[in-house]
This record gives sequence, C-alpha cells and structure tokens, in this order.
Amino acid sequence: MRDRRTGDDIDDGIALWFPGPDSVTGEDVAEFQLHGSRAVLAALIAVLGRMGLRLAEPGEFTRRAFLNGKLDLTQAEAIADLTAAETEAQRRQALLQLDGHLGDLYRGWSTRLLRLLAHLEATIDFPDEDLPPEIEGEVAGESAALAAEIENHLADNRRGERLRDGIAVAIIGPPNAGKSSLLNQLARREAAITSPIAGTTRDVIEVAIDLAGYPIVLADTAGLRDSVDAIEQEGLRRALARAEAAELRLFVFDAGQPRDAAGAAAWPGPDTLLVANKIDLLSEAELPAGAIGVSALTGEGIGALTAALGARVGAEYDIAAPLLTRTRHRAALEAARDALHRSLAAGLPELRAEDLRLAWRSLGRITGHADVEDLLDVIFADFCIGK
Ligand code: GDP
Repeated sequence: MRDRRTGDDIDDGIALWFPGPDSVTGEDVAEFQLHGSRAVLAALIAVLGRMGLRLAEPGEFTRRAFLNGKLDLTQAEAIADLTAAETEAQRRQALLQLDGHLGDLYRGWSTRLLRLLAHLEATIDFPDEDLPPEIEGEVAGESAALAAEIENHLADNRRGERLRDGIAVAIIGPPNAGKSSLLNQLARREAAITSPIAGTTRDVIEVAIDLAGYPIVLADTAGLRDSVDAIEQEGLRRALARAEAAELRLFVFDAGQPRDAAGAAAWPGPDTLLVANKIDLLSEAELPAGAIGVSALTGEGIGALTAALGARVGAEYDIAAPLLTRTRHRAALEAARDALHRSLAAGLPELRAEDLRLAWRSLGRITGHADVEDLLDVIFADFCIGK
C-alpha cells in the first residue's frame, strides 16, 4: 500500500472491496487488512484523512446497515449484545436475536395488526358498501387473540432480560455460616467476570461469574448482622429485599449446627438450595441430610454445588424460543397490549381503529419500522467504535 501523493510505502497488506448493496452496510465498503501496529494505522489514517475520509462514530456501521434496511433494530441491538457477551448463554441469545427471530415475531404481529386496521377502516370508510357484517366481530376476536399472545410473551419471568444482565443468586444464612467464604470459593473456581455490575451497592457484595455458560451475579449478604444500629438495619433490609428479588438463593448454614437449617423455612420453594458448610469439621456420619455439603475452606463439595446450581439455572434458562431482552421492548409491548385492550373497550369504530393504529406503531418501534428517529441516538450510543 502506497501513499499516492508522496509515493511512500505504508505497509504490505490486502484491500478487500465489498460493493453495495450486498455489503454489510449496504454501501460500498473497502476493508484494509494491515499489520495493525499503531504506526501503520496512523500512517494509513493520515493518508485516508487527506482524501476526506474520517473515523466512524461508535455504532456507525450498524446504524448505516439499519438505515439501509439491512438489519432491524432488534438485530442492531443484538450486535451490541454479541459484542458484550461474556458467557455462552448470552452469546446464544444474542445470536438468536441477530438471526432475526425476535424481529420476525414482532413483524408477524405488526402484519396481523395492519390487516385488522385495514378491515376496520374499510367498514368506517365504506359504510354503504356491501361489506360482510361479521367484519367488526372478527376484528375484535383477532385483537383479543393478539393481546393474549403479547401478554403471554411478556409473562416470561424476564428471562431474556435476566440472561442479558446476569441471573441473580443471593447467598443468605446466619452470621458466620461461611457466606463470604463461599462467595470467594465460587468466584475463584468459576471464571469471575470483571465487568462492572450495574446497581452494585456497598451493602451487598456482588461478583459476576460464568457458571456452566450462564452469567450469574452472586450477591453476598454477609457483614449484615442482627444489629440495633440504624444504618446496619437499613443494610439488612436491603439485603433481604435483594434475597427476595433474586432468582435463586443459596441458604448457607454451619453443618455443625444443623438446627440453623430451619432458617431456610423463610424461603420455601425450589428456588432456594440448602448448603451445609464446614463439612471439613465433621465426620461423614454427621453430614446433614437434604443439604449439599461443602467446605468453603477446603473446596470439598463445591463441584457438586455448582453442578446443582448449573442444573437449576439450565432448566430455567435453556431457551429455544426468542425472548425479549430489553426494557425498551417490554415497554413497547406493554403499550401495544394496552392499546389493544382500549380498542376492544371502545364504542366507536373510529376510536377502535385509532387504538389499533397506536398498537401497531408501538410494535413498529421495536423493530424500527415505525417512527424511531428519536430512538436511534439512544440505541447506537451503546455501541463501541468499529461496530
Ligand atoms: P459469613 O459471616 O457467613 O460470611 O461467614 P465467613 O465467610 O466470614 O466465615 C465465618 C468463619 O468461618 C470464618 O472464620 C471462616 O474462616 C470460617 N469458615 C468459613 N467456611 C468454612 C469451612 O468450610 N470450614 C471451616 N473450618 N471454616 C470455615
């Protein structure tokens, strides 16, 4: 590669030419494969700069691909998710979305809505024509069916969003049971993810780990003792709230104090695993039944615990169907569902049609097929340069 102006060599490399509209952005794209050092890049960028070219903004390639109709917005978001994926499950979910599964689902609903709207408007615009009288009833029936499907999709226990952000597992139990030690042991054995966790507070220690391919955010409520201190009590309240909000709980107790296991009764159900810690201090015969025996000190039993936890998470999160992954999608779907309900309750056909139109617009905002100009800056702000 040579600077044509000075005749200086820049580097030995390859230039690949992807003509539009079949390129990734839909425009003509040239790709340079170079030796990648800072000096080579600086020299090339200087030459390209003199030709009037500039560096891309973060997310600009994806944004152009979206504007040129190569991707819908859910796919553009999937690129950001794929770039940020830290575990297998996150990678799989992002790829499913990038393949367009989520967008297809929403577009299918949009198409159905548009048909309903057209039918209803026909009865409004041409009241004297010989339109079949059952049209209005059919529109109402289909609207109700669609609202129910959207409701069903929304009632996903937020699995898609949780998979994207990390599945919360709270470690709870009496003081000195070994909660902090267990958190450290788990974080050391499984790959600890170092990216910052949104919403981390000082009251609850959190660490993100990759457990059997799933992103787990372990929260330790240690350090929060039964205290009369007002600040500590507030901390305790927050820790309890966190434990309640968690998808799963590990209730840790000292295996030498089997009566402590009774404290787990406050957390009934399959979402709380009972963990008997400090088994290194016990003989085999003394191990409490019904709990997973571990030693946070020696690491004994930790493999069995992570296997049990992995199986529990896998059963819930091994997703085949596309799940909504963002609050943005959830809000738009809720708006669409509400508009459908309003449409069903409205008396006048004109009002029913207006609400159907609003529902259609809400769905369109998810994939980017309705007025989304105001959304674009927010969505593409999440991207890194070069994507
Ligand atoms: P927490 O208050 O529940 O967070 O408990 P810590 O993790 O601070 O542990 C309390 C005490 O128990 C510490 O002195 C730990 O070293 C000790 N400990 C924790 N796990 C084990 C274990 O598996 N075996 C033994 N022998 N001691 C442990």
